[in-house]
Parts: sequence; C-alpha cells; structure tokens
Amino acid sequence: MTQAVPSTVDQSCDLCGGSNFETISEFDRHHKPLKTGLCQGCGLLMHLPIPSEAEISAYYANDYRHDYHGENKPSVRRIMRAWNNGQRIVAQIKDHIPVNCQVFEVGAGIGCTVKSFETSGFNASGIEPNTDFNNYTHDILHANVENINLYDLAANHSRDVVLLIHVIEHFVSPKRALKQMRGLLKDDALLYIECPNIGAPFATFDRMFHFAHIYNFTHNTLVSMAQSAGFEAVKTFTDAANPDIQILFKKVAIPPHLDFDAQEAARSYGAIFRYNWFSYNLRVDYLLRRIIKLSAYAKEYAQATRFVKTLEEKFKA
Ligand SMILES: [Zn+2]
Repeated sequence: MTQAVPSTVDQSCDLCGGSNFETISEFDRHHKPLKTGLCQGCGLLMHLPIPSEAEISAYYANDYRHDYHGENKPSVRRIMRAWNNGQRIVAQIKDHIPVNCQVFEVGAGIGCTVKSFETSGFNASGIEPNTDFNNYTHDILHANVENINLYDLAANHSRDVVLLIHVIEHFVSPKRALKQMRGLLKDDALLYIECPNIGAPFATFDRMFHFAHIYNFTHNTLVSMAQSAGFEAVKTFTDAANPDIQILFKKVAIPPHLDFDAQEAARSYGAIFRYNWFSYNLRVDYLLRRIIKLSAYAKEYAQATRFVKTLEEKFKA
C-alpha cells in the first residue's frame, strides 16, 4: 500500500466540487498503474485524473470485455449468475415498488434482470450501451433491452422505477447520470442502486481499483451523491460489512446546497485500510472463503450448463 500523498491533479470532485485529493493508491488490482484519490471535502474515492468520455468509450469498445471478464459472449456461468441475481433483485424490492409498475434498467447487461421483472408481472425494459451480448438478449431471452445511450433519452418523467445495478461506479460523472435518470422518473418515483462497497471488510481488495470503476463508494458517499442529484434513501438493504451497497431511493427536489462532513474523508480512509493487504490475506475466514469458493467453482460450471439449457427452453419463441 502506498503512503498517502497530496495529489497535484487539477480536477474538481463530482460530489462536493472540492479539489483537495489525497492519493491513496498508485495501482489497480492487477498492479497496473492507476491513481486513486480520496476527496478531502466529502470522502469520495475516484481516479486521478477522471478519464474523458472519449477514453472511456475507447476502453469499452476495445478492452472491457477482455480485460474485465475475458469473454465476448456470455458463458453459461455468467448467464446463470445474472439470472439468479435478477431473481434476487425482484424478490428484494417487489414489495417496495408499485404492483405491475414500469421498471426501467439503465445498463441492463445481458438482460436477465429486465426479463426477471417481466416474468414477475412488471412492465420491464432497459438500455445497454455495449452490443456484445445483444444477440443473446434479443434472440434467446427476448428481453426488451435497447442499445441507447442514457444521455440520448428524453426527460419525459414517465417511469415508476429505474434500476442501476453495478453501473454508477462506471460513469464519468455519477451526478450528471443521476440527474438524467431523475428526468426519466415520475414525481415520487423510485431509483434502486446497487454498487460495490469499498468500505466492506471482504471482497474489497480483490475488487478494489479497476480502470472501469471510476468511482468507489461507501454507503455514506453513495447516499450523498444521490442526494445531490435529487434522491433520498427510503430503504437500505445492506450493512457496512456487505461487499455491496443496495439502496432504494425516492425522487425528491434537488437541494440548492449540500453540507459535507469534514470527517467523511477520514471515515472512508479508515474503512478502506481497516485491513491491509497482508492481514486481509491471512485472515482465516478469508482463506476458508477462498477454499469454499474454488471448490464451488467446478460444481457451479456443471450446474450452470443444465440451468441455462432449461432457461433457454423456457423462452423459446
Ligand atoms: Zn468531494
């Protein structure tokens, strides 16, 4: 772990507008150079510098699938996981959203979550900028997912619920993206967000610091980011130890001014460095989890092949 040094990068924080960052890491999870800064004004973690939209587009066009998942079409394991995850999300939020309402997912991936809501009685659709998995989404799942950029959608205030599942950390400006999503929603409508929890004691170091994750959130910084764009948290499904953050927000007025706690940067810092790399990897429960995970892998592959075959039969036209 590198020692914290003040950053000389000239950029302003997407959340608080501050420009005082402490560099807390010089490398990504594969030990490639990648600078991560901690905003001293609000505790938000982000790349230094923030990549441009053009750099991000080039990255997704060329490297993302390969670099991030190592595949160009969905594997059976990925499909099974995505399907089970979609089912989990439906079960988790269905009692907190209007019956049979319109659910719209931004960054729908393969389309398993959209399809899960559709088959549970909701009017479900979504958008996905990447085209890699399009054929699967349309021809096999028959999920209502279009290749449209978020910023090309009209602010028509028509939707009841927007889903944002492991997407917010990828935006160049999460605040701009959230404000755009606010425009898609009716008054008092809901926004459900899931993203990695940088403050969690587990699964953080093997997830930490990746080019595709421009921002890293704690519960507090995610809630502040949503507030800044006109959303208030109505239900939090995860605690501080969970490797993910899962929060349901409601559309409210955009506050003219937000106060930030000067202690938040110290809290973010403490959450990240609660376990350093060495002690993290020596933790007995960590090792047990790794062993369980690896032995579950082979079993999961065989299971996924059967699972996906059954799933695909179900949606055959
Ligand atoms: Zn900030």
